[in-house]
Amino acid sequence: MQPPEDSPYLESIALIRTLPCLAEPGRIIVIGQPSRSLDDVLPYLATLPDVITYDPQQGALTFRRQRGFLTLYPDRVYFTQVADVEEGLALLGALVEAINATWAERAALAPARAARRAPRMMDVWSLLPQTNCKACGEPTCMAFAVALIQGQRTVDECTPLLTDEALADRRATLQAML
Ligand code: SF4
Repeated sequence: MQPPEDSPYLESIALIRTLPCLAEPGRIIVIGQPSRSLDDVLPYLATLPDVITYDPQQGALTFRRQRGFLTLYPDRVYFTQVADVEEGLALLGALVEAINATWAERAALAPARAARRAPRMMDVWSLLPQTNCKACGEPTCMAFAVALIQGQRTVDECTPLLTDEALADRRATLQAML
């Protein structure tokens, strides 16, 4: 059952998992599960500043944060480069407030319906393993990032990203970005 029109969109986003953040050792990735699907609010959130990519078909929206990224799917949210669980919980709480505030203002917003892709090279590079292992045939991860942005390579050609389950969220974020 849908909540009444004027009630907050979300009650909460539960922290369901953390992973080591390989982009910045010592930091973590925080994964949250919203109390309601984000399907309806994503087109409004996609009108906010700092959107890197929006894929309305897959329901994937990524924002650049001051440090790291925030990626939202209808049933999951991912914060990268988070200091600790305490900061993760604060970020999830702030995200609930931002989602509810955006939903409350939706009458004044034109929902985004078109895909948007504006990744920067450093954004792409920061999501790669950064080991320069050369398995993709490029001399460095930076060279691979350039080739990805130019559409000459695909994300799955980075073998570590394809095979290491710990990197699954980064793969998904990159695929949504590119
Ligand atoms: S395979 Fe991936 S980790 Fe290895 S150099 Fe290429 S982009 Fe970097």
